[in-house]
Amino acid sequence: LASLEVQPFPTVLEFPTGKTGDGHVLVAAGPCGVESREQTLKAARYVKAHGAAMLRGGAFKPRTSPYAFQGLGVEGLKILAEARKETGLPVVTEVLSPEQVELVAEYADALQIGARNAQNFPLLQAVGESGKPVLLKRGMSMTLEEFLMSAEYILSRGNMRVILVERGIRTFEKATRFTLDVSAVPVLKSWTHLPVWVDPSHPAGRREWVIPLALAGLAAGADGLIVETHPEPEKALSDAAQQLHEHEFADLMERVRRLVEALGKTL
Ligand code: PEP
Ligand code: MN
Repeated sequence: LASLEVQPFPTVLEFPTGKTGDGHVLVAAGPCGVESREQTLKAARYVKAHGAAMLRGGAFKPRTSPYAFQGLGVEGLKILAEARKETGLPVVTEVLSPEQVELVAEYADALQIGARNAQNFPLLQAVGESGKPVLLKRGMSMTLEEFLMSAEYILSRGNMRVILVERGIRTFEKATRFTLDVSAVPVLKSWTHLPVWVDPSHPAGRREWVIPLALAGLAAGADGLIVETHPEPEKALSDAAQQLHEHEFADLMERVRRLVEALGKTL
């Protein structure tokens, strides 16, 4: 179902604030995790002011360590809904289990499947049944064929609104947190009609490398970006080193605008 042989034209996803696919580029941005009302509302206001069309933020965080901050849960979902109400930005947030899908779908405009759950087949089927747009992250050791098979689990349940997100894979390189597989973008675009996005934050692991990776993804043909930014990144409870300060996010958006224009696309 994801194949260009089945559907020979690009899928375009529409949100109240923008579109993604077929020359339309959309930027989702916000903190890694929802930590407080103040932090999330602040981030929502400035990402909107700088041109993002969607707010991201995890209420349920899939942490490597069970002792690390796990997110605010339902309280986090409520904060995201308040941020949407105030700014008009649609919200994308991660869902961790099939049992959680109904709850998260009540608050979110799009459901995020994290890299660590990219082959959780019951979860993929459950988001397929929810009918909500899905941001599907690539697992850190998945081939592109496996990635598309995960998308098929969602599509085959009747949900065609899927965005594929390249977020870096495990390689021998340790300087960056993951290796952004830029080639995934043109390869996926030659195989599938689905929008392909890049997450430059998680592969970079450090904020100074986020902007070049974001621009590389767009130059390679990505239809969107999902970027982490925090009002006070040094104090963030997760992914502190990679979240952009507001001024860095503003700089990113200025460069994105110029590149998107040069590519003959719209933001
Ligand atoms: C995130 O977006 O904060 C996240 C946990 O991403 P990933 O699943 O790609 O590691
Ligand atoms: Mn994160």
